[in-house]
Amino acid sequence: MKLKEIAKNVYACMQQDCGFGWNNAGFVNFGGGLVVDTFYTLDRTQKMIGLYGSINPEPVRYLVNTHHNGDHTWGNQLFTDAEIIGHRLCAQAMENDSPPFVVQEFMSSKDIPIGIKWVADDIRAFDFSGIEVTLPNHLIDDRLDLDLGGVACHIIYVGPAHTASDLIIHLPEQQIVFGGDVLWNRCTPVAWEGTHAKWIEAIDLVLSFNPKVVVPGHGALCGVAEVKNLRDYLELIYEETRRHFDNGLSTLDALKQMDLGPYMNWTQPERAVSIVQRAYREFRNEPWDAPIDVIGMYTEGHRLRTYWDGLTR
Ligand SMILES: [Zn+2]
Repeated sequence: MKLKEIAKNVYACMQQDCGFGWNNAGFVNFGGGLVVDTFYTLDRTQKMIGLYGSINPEPVRYLVNTHHNGDHTWGNQLFTDAEIIGHRLCAQAMENDSPPFVVQEFMSSKDIPIGIKWVADDIRAFDFSGIEVTLPNHLIDDRLDLDLGGVACHIIYVGPAHTASDLIIHLPEQQIVFGGDVLWNRCTPVAWEGTHAKWIEAIDLVLSFNPKVVVPGHGALCGVAEVKNLRDYLELIYEETRRHFDNGLSTLDALKQMDLGPYMNWTQPERAVSIVQRAYREFRNEPWDAPIDVIGMYTEGHRLRTYWDGLTR
């Protein structure tokens, strides 16, 4: 974990992308302090708070959850004095999601199905003990404009894109965007609840800000070029998926037909199954928040990986 000053008094807390759960966070040291996202576990979040404390030892005033996924929210309880800002649907999803101890138990069990072992192997790197899921206490629906001691901070709802509850944080004077998991840099995004159109719209909004520095939810710090690259990736997958859907292929066969080119070098390219399966749900006119068969999704990722490995043997 590394703290990088990306503008005067603005920091990104970066973790190297090693698969599921290795997200980035941020700290805006103005107006009492605003933290963007927690990490997956209490120990990692505590370490992050220690880094922020070396800059400003006062407890922070605000914590923003960019969306509900545990890697961004399961450290919330450590921000006891903060106003925790999240979208209404973020709080709802956190309430309904499997609690950390259930995830840990399942992912650590010896007879885990072979199809989800690749995900379980990632998740087992984390210790979820002691986590009490703590919901945001300031719920927003559309946007929230904060004045952090004279510094403008815009918190904008852009979902449902990666999930139902995506927020981005824009600092217009510093030309910085914290993108949460709407933005990924050279690691394959996961698509949960939402639509392709909304995701592209969210990316285009980020591009319209012409940011100097972008903090993606996962992957290294970047700029506009990498955001455009993600946009190209999502468009490519979506167009290819439409073609294969129209030809009556299964999602797995569609993925096998796709030439991902340079995107095969992104972390866990098999996570594209989530995007393809979601596009199929869209094409079948299912609602954007239709239930997701998560085990089925990961299992298909495993089958795709097995197929790719067979090609290179
Ligand atoms: Zn994430």
